[in-house]
Amino acid sequence: MAAGARAVQETGWDAERDVELLLAFLNTVNMTEATDVLDDELTWRQWAAERGLGAAGASHKARASRDALRAVALAHHGVQAATAPPDGLPHGSIRIELSAGVPVLTAGDALGAALAAAARLAVLGYWERIKICPADDCRWAFYDRSRNRSRTWCSMRVCGNREKARNWRERARSAAS
Ligand SMILES: [Zn+2]
Repeated sequence: MAAGARAVQETGWDAERDVELLLAFLNTVNMTEATDVLDDELTWRQWAAERGLGAAGASHKARASRDALRAVALAHHGVQAATAPPDGLPHGSIRIELSAGVPVLTAGDALGAALAAAARLAVLGYWERIKICPADDCRWAFYDRSRNRSRTWCSMRVCGNREKARNWRERARSAAS
């Protein structure tokens, strides 16, 4: 929380809103429920409209960018994706405009808005706090607010404990065999 609040003071923009938007974008795929907003142009347009982001843009571009960002975020705690994400991202509509004499990133569509949020967080050094829960059936994107960026699971109460229980069962099984 402190990191985001500091950004507001220093820069005048709301880092928390960027975190929220970026996480919502990364979580358009839901492993637990096996749903993907980007499977369908209509659900993608609805997603963009609900957030007031204007035009949605093509869902396949958004998906390519989202999946690349998710692969990087997963690697933030050492889990390597099966395939390395490409360096170039489909970027939607992003412009740099002068706002009262200050250059600002401005998005013209939903993908541009999500990527502009990611870029602003990266500039302030918060990008590595964007993580993906490594539990296979979870893979939920979250923001690591811990002081030393040490958080691994989306929610220690749910995934962390589940993982501990699984490890315990595996140890118990191998000890028994
Ligand atoms: Zn999780």
